[in-house]
Amino acid sequence: MIHATYSPSKLELIEACPRFGQQDSTNEAAIDAGNRMHHAAETGDLSDLDSAEVTHVKRALDYVDEVTKDLEIREFKITKPEEALSEEEIRTASSFFAGYLDIREAKLACSLTYGFCDRILISVANDRAYLFDYKFGKTEITAADDNMQAQAYTLAMFETFPWITEVEVHFIAPVQDFITQARYTRDRHLDKIVNRINKAILRADDPFTEPTMHQKACSYCRHKATCPAFGQVVKKVFTGAFGLPLPEKFEPGNLVTIRDRELAQTVASLLEDWCKLVKQANSRAAVEEGLEFENYQVVSRKGKTSITDVQTAIQKLRDINVPDEALFEADAVSLAFAKAVVAVKESRDISRTEAEELLRDTLTDVIVQSPSVNYLKKKPKADVERFLTDVSDGDLQ
Ligand code: SF4
Repeated sequence: MIHATYSPSKLELIEACPRFGQQDSTNEAAIDAGNRMHHAAETGDLSDLDSAEVTHVKRALDYVDEVTKDLEIREFKITKPEEALSEEEIRTASSFFAGYLDIREAKLACSLTYGFCDRILISVANDRAYLFDYKFGKTEITAADDNMQAQAYTLAMFETFPWITEVEVHFIAPVQDFITQARYTRDRHLDKIVNRINKAILRADDPFTEPTMHQKACSYCRHKATCPAFGQVVKKVFTGAFGLPLPEKFEPGNLVTIRDRELAQTVASLLEDWCKLVKQANSRAAVEEGLEFENYQVVSRKGKTSITDVQTAIQKLRDINVPDEALFEADAVSLAFAKAVVAVKESRDISRTEAEELLRDTLTDVIVQSPSVNYLKKKPKADVERFLTDVSDGDLQ
């Protein structure tokens, strides 16, 4: 039976903690940007992207071009995108073509799970296939040679296409300036992949398997408020860090008495402060003093553009014939630069980049650009899970 519950991108998280449950993302702007960049990479139409997004998508596409430059390629549109890619369809499409079929966004299904891969290059005449997946978000990506999403796609390729003996998987994350690739062979990897995925699914299917703390899984898990493992670690950290009186029950979902709620509220506020201070102190040490961390690196985020005088900005936009409807849709009372870009783009039917340039020229006196921000971010292959395991084992008691 194919498990739709455990999609390839979630396998790594349920392997890390069998009780993991994905929390809903609330960052609509990031979701929208990711969707637009994916669509642009799939279609080649970059008109709905801002200048930074154009750069990211171009880098991703350039990378694919570089990897495939010596291959004979022909674009192929699958007939039923909702169905998994099949051997029959590929054999038929390859009847008079010995090169690689270049397939965008296709469903890959194996006996254990299924998912959608952004770009697949396959040829009946060659025993190697190429898979490319774009990652336009900031979620950390596991190296392709250990990545369960890569392995699930690979398994689908081996199971669906019997002549394929080698699969090259490339994960391209231009926003993070990170690309990772691996080559899997049927002889060396197939059994290991099946065993690994099977084991993770069996553990997750068993309702009695205990949750296990994991840095990445816990970050994205919706069960944090009720998870006993998570509560125990926080409790240990607090006991060690503050020596404060603690509630009887520490799992947020089990707080009952007013006393427990108040104690938990106090330590939660302190924890927030403590987290901010730790991050500030570490960023300062890394940026200003050049301290090098084993698992974290300094990255820079572009400063925000803000409108300083909304009424003047609206008048200037009217002067260049941006209609009031577009501005009001963009919420004129609190007009933000990002919303103004959308209003100008839509009212003039131009690309985001063009809208952004026009706005910067038009509103030059009433916008400010805050300086870029440097902060610490976990390295792609960081081993901070080991630290959390140590905490779970009681080393901080
Ligand atoms: S919060 Fe609990 S259930 Fe969720 S991943 Fe962490 S340990 Fe597992």
